[in-house]
Amino acid sequence: MNYRHGFHAGNFADVFKHALLARLLLYLKRKETPFRVIDTHAGEGAYDLAAEEAERTLEWRGGVGRLADLSGASAEVRALLAPYIDCLGPLDEEGRPALYPGSPVIAQKLMRSQDRAIFCELRPDAFAALRRRFARDARIKTVHLDGYTGLGAYVPPKERRGLVLIDPPFEREDEFDAAFDAFAKAYAKWSSGIYAIWHPSKNESDVGRFHDRLSASGIRRILSLSLGVGGDGTGLRMSGLAVVNPPFTFEEEARTLLPFLARRMAQGEGGGYRIAWLVSE
Ligand code: SAM
Repeated sequence: MNYRHGFHAGNFADVFKHALLARLLLYLKRKETPFRVIDTHAGEGAYDLAAEEAERTLEWRGGVGRLADLSGASAEVRALLAPYIDCLGPLDEEGRPALYPGSPVIAQKLMRSQDRAIFCELRPDAFAALRRRFARDARIKTVHLDGYTGLGAYVPPKERRGLVLIDPPFEREDEFDAAFDAFAKAYAKWSSGIYAIWHPSKNESDVGRFHDRLSASGIRRILSLSLGVGGDGTGLRMSGLAVVNPPFTFEEEARTLLPFLARRMAQGEGGGYRIAWLVSE
């Protein structure tokens, strides 16, 4: 387990994933009944972008660093981004928040008193930070556990409403298959949950096979979204999110948000976004 999210926190892939995550959570808040968030690969919870890891890559400059001035965004885009932007808190003149909120902090900020969350993290130092951060929030349980094992154990949640984020580091060669298998097993136990599975889009054949497995699974309502920044750098240039059971508002919101984010975070030619149903109703 070499992956440390601190090197990548706040980059274009985080902005893409977290802005969409905030929309999913906001939808769940439309009903008074409680919901549950299960984050299988939670990371540390929040990241200091002035720390050595983030300073070494400066990836956040191409992500959250591009959101300091939203005056060029339409009112509609600004409204859709607002829940995520609120989670960031004030940005400094370079567009850096005091702490970049990872998925657990975004969930925490958007949960209400009746909602609950479980965050799994396996790397000991990341888990120690995660546990410290949420120790005083009785709504939240942090567990030092393999995320796929946790997912199997924690679904269906007693609330029967909620969201699973599967956001592994893709260090394992078989991560696409492991993520699909864990998702399919969880779905068999809890078919009404919203599932968001993040993936890098570096290797077309891996992504194609993952999408083929989703499409052939017999599971309906699977929306695939991706955002690429283009250019010819060596790092990650494109990432995707497969969302199962997206709220009925989600596709339209993404069709408003992603063109803006793709333009705003572009690094060169060849970027853009894509939204397509792998399996519709
Ligand atoms: N979801 C986080 C966010 O959006 O802020 C980022 C998560 S990061 C991409 C992936 C995390 O998975 C890392 O913190 C890594 O230590 C952790 N990890 C690696 N293997 C794991 C496993 N088998 N189970 C749970 N967590 C794992």
